[in-house]
Amino acid sequence: METIKALINGNFIESQTKQFVEVLSPLTQECIAKVPCMLEEEINEAVKSANEAYLQWKNTPIMARTRVMLKYQALIKDNLEELATILSMEQGKTFDDAKGDLTRGYEVVEFACSAPTLMMGETVENVAKEMNTFSYKQPLGVCAGITPFNFPGMIPLWMFPLAIVAGNAFILKPSEMVPKTAMRLAELFLESGVPKGLLQVVHGQKEQVDILLEHPLIKAYSFVGSPKVGAYIYSKATHNLKRAQALVGAKNHMVIMPDINETQVINALIGASMGAAGQRCMAISVAIFVGDSKKYIPRLIEKLKAIKPGAWNDPNAAYGPLITRASLKRVKDLIETGIKEGANLILDGRNIQVEGYPDGNWLGPCVFTQVKTHMEIYKREIFAPVLCIIEVNNIYEALEIINQNEFGNGTSIFTNSLSCANYFIKEVTVGQVGVNVPIPVPLPFFSFTGWKGSFYGDLHAYGKQAINFYTETKTVTQKYFLEANKEGIVFNFQENHSK
Ligand code: NAD
Repeated sequence: METIKALINGNFIESQTKQFVEVLSPLTQECIAKVPCMLEEEINEAVKSANEAYLQWKNTPIMARTRVMLKYQALIKDNLEELATILSMEQGKTFDDAKGDLTRGYEVVEFACSAPTLMMGETVENVAKEMNTFSYKQPLGVCAGITPFNFPGMIPLWMFPLAIVAGNAFILKPSEMVPKTAMRLAELFLESGVPKGLLQVVHGQKEQVDILLEHPLIKAYSFVGSPKVGAYIYSKATHNLKRAQALVGAKNHMVIMPDINETQVINALIGASMGAAGQRCMAISVAIFVGDSKKYIPRLIEKLKAIKPGAWNDPNAAYGPLITRASLKRVKDLIETGIKEGANLILDGRNIQVEGYPDGNWLGPCVFTQVKTHMEIYKREIFAPVLCIIEVNNIYEALEIINQNEFGNGTSIFTNSLSCANYFIKEVTVGQVGVNVPIPVPLPFFSFTGWKGSFYGDLHAYGKQAINFYTETKTVTQKYFLEANKEGIVFNFQENHSK
């Protein structure tokens, strides 16, 4: 069985630790790799050599930095099938989904190829007499990223390409549940010609993250994961007066207005709620049917009954297994709670079997109706193919529910009314809004703008905000003496040279 290596100062090394985490296949429970919980001195070595690499890299011409990204995006595309196979096998998501995961990632690398424009500062001439002010964006130094299990390709790629093209070095601590995709992405990054030491990959869990959090040379932390861990990392980093951004949990609502056509909404809702086994921070986990639109619910249930999870390489699988046995148990416990609280489990996928994989972490589509906002199944992020349905009378009631929810990652409204859509866009307290688009994840030239309890920090992931997150602005005010030197130095200097 493979022992996952770390990437330290350009070399893939085996940790000397005695402590490992097993990566279990979500299809079979077979142990497919061992992840080291690395030693403090190994992590310190990674940070030290990252800092040395940064000191050279920050002075490397911007076009040279950009060329690394041009090469890297091409390498990811050329190796997409292989990367997607690795990703599917460790994470469980279907092959198409895995390719989507990586595609969303390399789009960020493509965006990083605009570094010369993105790194431009601002200039104002004549801020006072014979005085100009201009600004530069300068890198911070060593930055770190801690990533979750659900997007093993996309989320590391949200972080290190933009940090590095901006002139920083980066320490990546991937999820211990899905380390293999990150390691292959790191290998390809080295192939793209990046100087050694700029990307380091370390492994472990809380103890190793704590070492990163306390390290004086690390200047900024990007985190994506669960709310509790995000709150811990954000508060610890900022307590140490460091910069931090934490993208965390979600409860995303889709509002279905009665003016929308059934066919326009049902397939979108199925994909958004069940796709990737609901293990997406932008998955729709609550559908709010407004007024007469509730007549679509029976059709939705009928269509969901035809959907089945399966192995990553089964072309008929709608989605894969949940990530771990523990996760499946947590979700099943929550479903029990929902039943006890009085919600109606109108579709129960708990006993689903998938041929050939008796030990997979399977959960068929589950739907609760009669869900109330005080229930645990409504309040908590389930992160599984479980949809909660709420019925309301009008858009105002729908908005009240969404705006009172603690999370604010994504939401969508399905309607043909421009006025209704615009009212919703204006009033909703959620950071990413879809109009007739079920999962409104912005492309990388925008930023991923979760709100409320879905994000701790100020500057968001990718887009221009990420460049600002990974840089400091230096503002220069410069005085010159044209008037005073008219008869003096300037002209004498020119005369001297013209002789
Ligand atoms: P997680 O919080 O368990 O783990 C994320 C990372 O934190 C991993 O690298 C893990 O090793 C590390 N970690 C775990 N416990 C820690 C601790 N006590 N101290 C320090 N580090 C620790 O999250 P997960 O289960 O891998 O991912 C699922 C969560 O991620 C969901 O809540 C989902 O909504 C969220 N997520 C959010 C976004 C977003 O953009 N808002 C995107 C993807 C996932």
